[in-house]
Amino acid sequence: MTVPQADLKSRYESMRADIDVAVQRVLKSGWFILGKELEGFERAFAEYIGVKHCIGVGNGTDAIEIALRALGIGVGDEVITVSHTATFTALGITAVGATPVFVDINERTYTMDPTDVASVITPKTKAILPVHLYGYPAEMDSIMRLATKHDLVVIEDAAQAHGARYNGKRVGSIGRLGCFSFYPSKNLGAFGDAGAITTDDDALADRVKMIRNGGQSDRYTHLVQGVNSRCDEMQAAILSAELRHLESMNARRKAIAQRYLQAFSQSDLVLPVSAVPPHDEVWHLFVVRAKHRDEFRKRLEAQGVQTQIHYPTPAHLQKAFTAQPHRSLPITERIVGEIVTLPLYAEMNDAQVEAVIQAVLKIL
Ligand SMILES: *Cc1c(COP(=O)(O)O)cnc(C)c1O
Repeated sequence: MTVPQADLKSRYESMRADIDVAVQRVLKSGWFILGKELEGFERAFAEYIGVKHCIGVGNGTDAIEIALRALGIGVGDEVITVSHTATFTALGITAVGATPVFVDINERTYTMDPTDVASVITPKTKAILPVHLYGYPAEMDSIMRLATKHDLVVIEDAAQAHGARYNGKRVGSIGRLGCFSFYPSKNLGAFGDAGAITTDDDALADRVKMIRNGGQSDRYTHLVQGVNSRCDEMQAAILSAELRHLESMNARRKAIAQRYLQAFSQSDLVLPVSAVPPHDEVWHLFVVRAKHRDEFRKRLEAQGVQTQIHYPTPAHLQKAFTAQPHRSLPITERIVGEIVTLPLYAEMNDAQVEAVIQAVLKIL
């Protein structure tokens, strides 16, 4: 048996009837950009997250860029974020000409260390951009307190955490703006590129809407130099269909994670933290730390279990960012050599889950 680390074909198969109906509806409508499908999805996702507004955009990176533009953040401004993330987080910041200032993470949760944030705030700092990595909510109470104290805006990168809660509130509804990606492998994934911005702020929502559509207030009236980044009708229709399955998909991910946690509790793997109030995570990825990581991966692969590393090179050590002076980030730099992502997706069957467990236990 081969167990892939993720399997996008099986997602389509698991909700084929709903997706096919949605796609046919769009094809027959003859309307493909900024229409009823997107409006419907935006309403449904805003309601799900618990905010007044959701604005669909082209992808998660654009969501970050547009959120910053809407806030007027740009050249000369600093945005504090983590280096241990998809480097696309940082690219959303550089896209507006602002400087990402990278901070270290908590060694157990892999999310932003608020103490390190406090140490890098300068008069140029405009925003804090935590990432709810692997589906685990960042320490939002401390981050929001710091932001209030220093008059900073908080923008959440919720690209990996659709449905996760912190203090009972869904992530994406806690900061001023939330940024989502619907890249195909995310907990809520389109069949192509898509993203969204969530907010309770009416004026910001209007600006975001204008910016994503070329900066137009009305057709052919460009008030600002916006971008072209719209979630198309096909992806919106697919996402609306899939959103109805999100809670059950997240529940299945949780059940698999709990099975792994129990099976590996006596092993010397460093396991992810789980169910620590006020965090209520959604298990985008199941990431463990292994001492001889590369050997561990090789031996899993030999048993048909595919793994990944999320992410092998932190943003501050990427060639694209080496021109920028940076501090060393000891925890980030250490754990990237130990982390490994085990297979976890909603469509995994019990036999596959057991195969992963047996393969891991055999090595350990
Ligand atoms: C996927 C992802 C992004 C980028 O989203 P795209 O839709 O691929 O542009 C940004 N941040 C994080 C944490 C992500 O996982």
